[in-house]
This record gives sequence, structure tokens and C-alpha cells, in this order.
Amino acid sequence: METIIIATNNKGKVKDFEALFNPMGFQIKSLKDFPGIEEVEETRTTFEENAILKAEYLANELNIPVIADDSGLIVDALEGRPGVYSARYAGLHKSDEDNLQKVLNELQGVFPGKRTARFYCALALAVPGKQTITVNGTVEGYIANEKKGTNGFGYDPIFFLPELDKTMAELSTEEKSGLSHRGNAIKALMNVIDKEGKEFFLRGSR
Ligand code: IMP
Repeated sequence: METIIIATNNKGKVKDFEALFNPMGFQIKSLKDFPGIEEVEETRTTFEENAILKAEYLANELNIPVIADDSGLIVDALEGRPGVYSARYAGLHKSDEDNLQKVLNELQGVFPGKRTARFYCALALAVPGKQTITVNGTVEGYIANEKKGTNGFGYDPIFFLPELDKTMAELSTEEKSGLSHRGNAIKALMNVIDKEGKEFFLRGSR
């Protein structure tokens, strides 16, 4: 069976990709299957560049196709912050809670209509010997005035979806993948792969 590596230690992300690639006859492995390989630091200034950096580094090291993602929250009233720094917005060793509280504090006094935001996800697929493919996905919403819901992670409790009248943290995992930035990026990648065919993963293999 052909293998694709997902450059993550996050089980939830691995499941999303398995649902997609297992029916195509690929097995998915994650960084957990390669304990000797360190996670690449996200040192670039755009989501795409970070995803490409991670995917190409690992595809080169392991000589197998690798998919890497980089994602984050973009808040319009904060000129796009926290953006690529979403994971460490409140500082290097701070928690998800610290990060979301920082966003809430910075938005104090900002009217509901001005609290527009989106989650963004860039995916890079690097196949050894091939041009790397990048796609992206978004989901639009508003930053709530306070946290609500306990599912999900990161900024989910403050990301409000007006058409559902719920925050992202009030959705089940399945509901979230159906509409999330990551889910939409995966759909975009599927469209590219459908066009290229399964051979895309094989032609460049050394
Ligand atoms: P990464 O792409 O896994 O490095 O995620 C970067 C950061 O963006 C996470 O630590 C979260 O703070 C935020 N983030 C990314 N995706 C989501 C999501 O689906 N829900 C909530 N926060 C997210």
C-alpha cells in the first residue's frame, strides 16, 4: 500500500486525512510514526510558506509524499492578527485560553458588526521530485463577546458562526469538519488530486 505522511502529531487531523485517502488505497502515517524526526519550526510569515517549508523538508528527508498544514485565526479589526502567530499569540509557552483571552481583550468595545474574522488553512502536498501543490480553505465568522462551548480547540469557543447561531466549540467533530477551514482545504486538495489522478503520487517517487 502506498503511504502519505501528514506532518502533524494531532490525531484529529490524521483522522480527517484518513477518511479521504484510505478509500483511494493510501495509508496515512503521521509524525508519531517517525519518532526520530523532529517537527519543523514554522518560521515563515505566511501560512502557505510555512506549510511548504514543513512538507518539502519531510518529503526530502523521508522520500515519500507529505502533506503539511498551517492554519490560524485572522481578525479584521486586529489587522489580521493573530494570523500565522495564532498558536503563540499570548507568548511562547502560553495556553489556548491565554491566546483567546488576548483576542477578547483586544476587541473590547468593538461593535458586533466589526468583529468579523475567519479561520484560514493552507495545505501543501510535496511529492519527491515534483512541484509542490498548495491549496487553502477558509470559514467566515465573528468573534463573540465571550467563550461558549467545550468542543474543539484553540479559538473555537470564541468563533461564532451566525448561520448556525453557535460557536465552533458547540459543534460536534463531524459538524466542524463539514464546514471548517481545514475541511474546505481538504476538499480543494481533493479536487486537484481528482484532476491529476492517483499517479501524481507515484510519478515523482524515486
Ligand atoms: P496549527 O496550524 O496546528 O499550527 O495551528 C495554529 C493555531 O491556530 C492553533 O494553535 C490554534 O490556536 C489556531 N487554530 C487553527 N485551527 C483551528 C481550529 O480549527 N480551531 C481553533 N483554533 C485553530
